[in-house]
Formats: sequence, structure tokens, C-alpha cells
Amino acid sequence: MLNTKTAHELLDLIKAGKASRDKILSDLKSRIDKVEPKVKAYAHLPKETDSAKQDSLLNGIPIAIKDNICTKGQFATCASRILENFSAPYDATVIKKLKEKGALIFGKTNMDEFAFGSSCETSCYGPTRNPWDLERVPGGSSGGSAAAVAADEAIWALGSDTGGSIRQPAALCAVVGLKPTYGRVSRYGLIAFASSLDQIGPITKDVHDAALLLNVISGHDEKDSTCADIPTVDYTSCFTKDLKGVKIAIPKEYFIKGLDKEVEDSVKQAKAVLEKLGATFKEVSLPHTKYAVSVYYIIATAEASSNLARFDGVQYGFRDKSSGSDESGQLISMYKQTRGKGFGLEAKRRIILGTYVLSSGYYDAYYLRALKVRTLIKNDFDKVFKDFDCVLTPTSPTAAFKVGERLENPLSMYLSDIYTISANLAGIPAISIPCGFTKNKLPIGLQLLSAPFKEENLFRSAYAFEQNTPWHKMKPDLNI
Ligand code: GLN
Repeated sequence: MLNTKTAHELLDLIKAGKASRDKILSDLKSRIDKVEPKVKAYAHLPKETDSAKQDSLLNGIPIAIKDNICTKGQFATCASRILENFSAPYDATVIKKLKEKGALIFGKTNMDEFAFGSSCETSCYGPTRNPWDLERVPGGSSGGSAAAVAADEAIWALGSDTGGSIRQPAALCAVVGLKPTYGRVSRYGLIAFASSLDQIGPITKDVHDAALLLNVISGHDEKDSTCADIPTVDYTSCFTKDLKGVKIAIPKEYFIKGLDKEVEDSVKQAKAVLEKLGATFKEVSLPHTKYAVSVYYIIATAEASSNLARFDGVQYGFRDKSSGSDESGQLISMYKQTRGKGFGLEAKRRIILGTYVLSSGYYDAYYLRALKVRTLIKNDFDKVFKDFDCVLTPTSPTAAFKVGERLENPLSMYLSDIYTISANLAGIPAISIPCGFTKNKLPIGLQLLSAPFKEENLFRSAYAFEQNTPWHKMKPDLNI
């Protein structure tokens, strides 16, 4: 079945005349018919598919897109009731680039509402399930993209990452997830959560596909003033067989209480594999790591409360009509009813928290202070990257948890991102790749981080590791 292949394998098969675009699509659709009722990875499946450019780089390979990225004429609801029935009037820059290279945009994947979460449970469409264990979460917020790729319901996908939302679900589903450097990929057309942290990135079956996808979506964009005008490289050309001369740092602050023993052991075994390939390791300190979660939940909620102010029932999506309209002089009541009914619990929690930390009495004590500590976190990394190519850490402190397990306890949910958040605060790139399984057959991921705009360093080490381990080849048994 062609849906089990990676994009680069399919491109080779098409070139060799051994696969056709129609067959890829029909295999994909029949897999979705069988698996989707169990996994629920998609928020919206396309009724009909556009035709992609012939004989182009991506040759019609389908790609699944997270539901917060705008694709002209398709739903973009952020899995929120407040955007129900909202169709995007334009293409995000990443979608435009994908179409130009001949990709087939296929389906919008489920997510936590507005990308708030680590479990894909806060979606207005209900939870996505982890293909490795349907009782468990796929991680979040790009859980739909990760589950779709892991279950072979997608060849590859795009997600977005504000504090770990690409890497953590990738780790929990045994796929590859890359958060690019802040500014490497345009955010134009990504419905904003926290504008200074958000990045779009690939979720794929292997490292080669992640590099290929970054090649297509990265680069300067005049429509996003935070998108850097720094030349990109061909990321598929930086793979090497060994890692001679590669220096990797292990931060001691990441191997602490709360890290599951099986995850720790897998990451240590991964270190041994990398060492065998020629990489050298040294323990370092990132002393401000302990503040990362607190700083993140101040900055991210502050920005989210401001970004979400635009959803008021006037311009987009859902409007509560029971309270009358502005014409009848009940504008404020309409705002309240619309936002009250349109946003879910977690979104409301974040709007309240964000409004509080930005309020005049508390701005200096919380928001301003958080910005200062964010700089200290970034400085820690800058210092380490003077001497090292990469930093190695676990991606998530635990393997996938049960559906419902952390939903009632936001703090325990927030700690799911303890290892991924710092990369967003520092603006640096980071990749998660599969590095083993627990004894219950749940995937474990390792994370590599590098200096800004040095994604090639991540790809080199990740690729060599992958070529020498079996983890990325494993497939979940969905009893089908
Ligand atoms: N889980 C984190 C949060 O809830 C990160 C989410 C994300 O990266 N979008 O904010």
C-alpha cells in the first residue's frame, strides 16, 4: 500500500513508473476509511481534491494540514466553536509554496482548540486517539497531524509549534517533528496563538521527509515581517553516514525528577548510538531552565489573550444570535454571549490569565519580568552553542498518557512541555525523532536543539541516528 511510504520514497517510485498519483490517493483514502473512525485524526476531510501541478518537485504527493493554517476555500477552525464554518479566503504562505511545488493539499487535521494543549483533547470535534494505543492521547496540540502520519492516514503533514506542539505529539506517536528557527518559515496565514513563539513545521515519517518539506516551506516572506531574510540551504544535502567531529551537549537540568525511567534509559541508549557514530558528548548547564514553564505561560497567555480579542462574533465564524445584534443596541451582550459560548474552557482560562498578566497593575511584575527571564534562557543557549553543534534532551518527560488523565489538572498538562518550551522562548530550532518504546509499546522521542538557522546540524545528527536504529520503521498495529 502506497500510503505507508514516505514522500521521498513515493517520488522515487513515481519517477521509476512504479506508482501513480491516483493510486497514492486511492490507497490513502481506503486507509482513512478503515482507520479514521478509530483514530479521528482529521477535523475536515476534503470532499473533492484539487489537481496538483504535474511533473513538479512534489508531483502531487498529498499533505495533511493542521486546522489552524489557512488554505483557500477550506475550513480553518482551529478546532474551536467560535470559528465554526469559517473558510479561509486565502492561502497561507506555506500552502502557496506547497502548491507551487506541486503538493496536493489534503485534509485539515484535528488539534487542541487554538493550539492550547498537549493532548488534542480540547478540540470541539472531540479527542484524537494515539494509533499506538487508542486509550491514550497522541499528544498535542498538533496531535491530529502526528496521529495521521503515524497511522498512515497521511504521507506527511504540517503542524505548528508554540511550546512543543509539533515535537511532543511526534514523540508520542513515533514520528519526526521539527520546529524550525523562529523566522525560518513564514507565519502568514497561520492563525496566531502567541506571535513571538509560533512556528509552522513538518511532521513526517522520517528525517529525509522533514528536510525535504523544510526546503519547500522555508524562506523569506514579505507578508511576515518576522520572517528572516537569511538564505536557506538544501537541507537534504547535509546528511552524512557518521558524526565525526560533531559535538553534542547534555544539559543536566533536563534529567530531573518527573522524567520517566524508561524515557531516560532510551535517551541514554540513543546517546551511546550517537557516540558510536563519532559524536562527542559533554554535560553542560542551562541554569535558567527551571523558569521556562512559568515564563512561557505568562508570555504565551499574554499574547494569546491579545490575539484572540479579534474573535468577537462580528468578523469571523460563530455569532450568538440569541442576544440580538448591534443594530438592536445589544453589542456588548452579543460579544459576551458569542465568546462565552464559542470558546472552550482552556481558551477561556488562557484569556483570563493573559489579560491578568498584561493588566496595568501586574504588567511589570509578570509580563515584563517574564520577558527578562526569557532573555536569560536565550543567553544560556547562546553560550552553549559557541562550543557545541547540538543539545540532546528527551522530548517529553513521559510516554503517551491516558485520554482524560490530565484534562482536569491544567498544571500537570502544562508540565508535558517542560523540555520543549525553551526552544520557543529562545527562538532556536529543535527536532524530535523516535528513539525507542516503553515495555507497553509506547513510543519515546529524543530532542535535538541547535543554534538559530542551523537546522542542518539537527538533520545531520538525526539522520545518522535514524539510519542506525529501527524505530522510525515501526508501525502501530490497529487491528485492521
Ligand atoms: N502545550 C503547550 C501549550 O499548551 C504548547 C502548545 C503549542 O505548542 N501550540 O501552550
